[in-house]
Amino acid sequence: MLINTKSDGHVHTHLCHHAVGEMEEYVVAAITKGLEELIFLEHLECGIRYPEDTWLSAEDFAAYHCEGQRLRQVYGEKISIGLGVEVGYNPRRVGETLEFLKRYPWDRVGVSFHYYEIDGHHYNVVSRRTINLEPLGNYGVERVISEYFATLLEAIDVLPGTVLCHLDAVLRHHPEVRLTGAHLRQISEIFQAMHRKGMALEVNTSGFSHRGEQYPVRSLIEEAVALGVRLVAGSDAHKPEDVGRFFDRL
Ligand SMILES: [Zn+2]
Ligand SMILES: [Zn+2]
Repeated sequence: MLINTKSDGHVHTHLCHHAVGEMEEYVVAAITKGLEELIFLEHLECGIRYPEDTWLSAEDFAAYHCEGQRLRQVYGEKISIGLGVEVGYNPRRVGETLEFLKRYPWDRVGVSFHYYEIDGHHYNVVSRRTINLEPLGNYGVERVISEYFATLLEAIDVLPGTVLCHLDAVLRHHPEVRLTGAHLRQISEIFQAMHRKGMALEVNTSGFSHRGEQYPVRSLIEEAVALGVRLVAGSDAHKPEDVGRFFDRL
């Protein structure tokens, strides 16, 4: 089996301040959809300067683990529940990030890179909002993409990641986004580094909602598989009804 479509390994809850629904609602949705495993992958960011918090505080993470344990007691016989973290890599805060990760056991450590820094301000590279797209575009689309991949490669090396999320998410809402040959070579390096570390590649079904196709594109998935990288499925649900979305199309 190339990918287990009975496991949704990437969901968020209201705890991250930009998703809705209690953890329990996600568990119930997953059971209703016939999934065998649900892994929460809540957002961790360190040292990001951005107008709003799109991640969990230390207190949120404590509540998260506490509620996760309770849900395992209640629903453990019906579904396997994992408590994971989607780490947004910030190259300036590696020590702090690693320290925080040591506080809890994690069933999955997803590696992402959401916030790009320009002149001391952070901009969200996966956003569709003008406040992000305009400054990033002015800085240079190709340059942001190149540095995105270079930073992901560093994150794979530095973080105890088990899954790479959002490989091709960078500037996905920018009209000028285009991957050059140099970018594709960076992606090959990323796959090789992942294979060495035993990291899996996430196939993210939010892409079916956004563009009618999973993330990343099929050609990249094929390259990863050819290099021996494992695949895992994630809906990136930010509301309970999106758990396991489009898994029948994987
Ligand atoms: Zn999110
Ligand atoms: Zn996510």
